[in-house]
Amino acid sequence: MTPAANESPAESNHAGGLNFIEQIVEEDISAGLHEGRVLTRFPPEPNGYLHLGHAKSICLNFGLAQKYGGQTNLRFDDTNPVTEDTEYVDSIKADVRWLGFDWAQELYASDYFEQLYQFAEALIQKGLAYVDDSTSAEIAALKGSPTVPGQNSPYRDRSVAENLELFRQMRAGTYPDGAKVLRAKIDMASPNMHFRDPIIYRIKHAHHHRTGDTWCIYPMYDFAHGQSDSIEKITHSICTLEFIPHRPLYDWFIEQLDIFPSKQYEFARLNLTYTVMSKRKLKKLVEGGHVSGWDDPRMPTLAGIRRRGYTPDSLREFCDRIGVAKRDNLIDVGLLEFCIREELNRTTDRVMAVVDENPIKLVLTNYPEGQEETLHIENNPEDADGGTREVPFSREVYIERDDFMENPPKKYFRLAPGQMVRLKGAYIVRCDEVVKNDAGEVTELHCTYIPESKSGQDTSGINVKGTIHWVSVAHAVPAQVRLYDRLFASENPAADEKELDSDETDAFLSLLNPNSLVTVRALVEPNLAHRAVGDRVQFMRKGYFCVDADSTDEQLVFNRIVTLKDAWAKEVKKN
Ligand code: ATP
Ligand code: MG
Repeated sequence: MTPAANESPAESNHAGGLNFIEQIVEEDISAGLHEGRVLTRFPPEPNGYLHLGHAKSICLNFGLAQKYGGQTNLRFDDTNPVTEDTEYVDSIKADVRWLGFDWAQELYASDYFEQLYQFAEALIQKGLAYVDDSTSAEIAALKGSPTVPGQNSPYRDRSVAENLELFRQMRAGTYPDGAKVLRAKIDMASPNMHFRDPIIYRIKHAHHHRTGDTWCIYPMYDFAHGQSDSIEKITHSICTLEFIPHRPLYDWFIEQLDIFPSKQYEFARLNLTYTVMSKRKLKKLVEGGHVSGWDDPRMPTLAGIRRRGYTPDSLREFCDRIGVAKRDNLIDVGLLEFCIREELNRTTDRVMAVVDENPIKLVLTNYPEGQEETLHIENNPEDADGGTREVPFSREVYIERDDFMENPPKKYFRLAPGQMVRLKGAYIVRCDEVVKNDAGEVTELHCTYIPESKSGQDTSGINVKGTIHWVSVAHAVPAQVRLYDRLFASENPAADEKELDSDETDAFLSLLNPNSLVTVRALVEPNLAHRAVGDRVQFMRKGYFCVDADSTDEQLVFNRIVTLKDAWAKEVKKN
């Protein structure tokens, strides 16, 4: 069953199966706007690693352009010198490519610094901007509130000539940080707070990752973003809902400067259950050592989700299924898991792994000592071309402790004294004798195997209800298996954090799931020793796993990508 996104399809998908942004684009194309050209952009700030929310934005921006024969720019929104880094630029590029998209141009808002500066002078010339010497506290004090109009700054009526001179001095480095700002001169009584003479330039003597020390004044987001769109002739600038109140300002600057009329459209950000998605919080998780790094397989970063074993296809499928919403919502992380499970069911080999620190050894007492045989086991029943692989079988095999019960209830179809079970791809065995150590713990099961019951050529006439997986003792390869669960125990950490009644900025950390990682020793079939990092398989009856980069020649390490079934949904129903 597909977990439903809690967004009614009627809202996200309108007539003809188009989402509301596609509708707008189609209307623009029919109206001949910009000669039917579609140019979008993905504008990350290079101050962290991309996460699933960004994947949504990437799929939307690149997907729209692909659908309408257009293109997409990758623009680094690097106007804040303090938080940005080339390390992030490189990881962002790698992540976008990994998702399967290619940009028309790689651009940097910082490349427009000179042009943006000229735009600011143009506003000053028109009497639409002024230099303000007030402190930030003084500016805030005069700003008013949504219901109380603001008051004009005492510096608001400086002459054009004086403003130009002061602004040029700001650029020249004459003043220290915070001494002056450049503000747009709009309307201190506007009901839209963003119109109350917004700051458009500030002084910041900081080294920039690309422009170095060329600049000591930097444009604010509102003065950089729309104009950058316009410089690139972006036709549809898509961002998240919190920018709705900024849109009038976006339009105002473009109108006053009389430049290319890019237009902004907003959609709901992606929020996922049991997940936090803000870069600030993700950084806290990394810096506080709550995860092993940005690419910890429990992280919602693309680096983490990739290492976990998710494929680009499954993420694009997920983004497609959640659609494009106009209202904030919370998507069930089960939908993401559904998407990868569907794909891996089609594509992965079924292999055997005894994921148990303390497995039980079966000794097949009637199987000749020293004998071995090679079984040919089908790789994937879902894939006719999947072929078979060779799996060694011998007199002693390991099984998981959970697959045996000394005093089973009715309808227990696995192994029990006197009971028969099929060893997957091999033979039917019967448990004759239970061997225990001094502590009374079962160590070995002595069994009889039925030679005529070999899988694929069974003439035994015996019907058993249970099939269990196993690994030949002599051929077993040791491995470490990392069983991941949700990183947060809270379904909606962002909302629950607010209920915590705490002033701590990192109160959300108390919502972490203490059992999000369980590490178990396992024994796997020998052909897994030849798998490469990133390879994905199904451990029969256990889930989907991939080879982690921590694997060494001595020890394979597997990440559990996802369980076979949605165990969590069952858990919720039970309670
Ligand atoms: P964060 O709040 O996590 O730091 P951000 O919005 O500051 O994210 P940016 O690098 O500025 O991150 O965002 C690049 C693009 O990705 C923007 O267009 C932004 O709207 C979009 N984006 C960021 N988070 C989400 C999300 N959760 N869902 C959809 N789009 C998102
Ligand atoms: Mg941001």
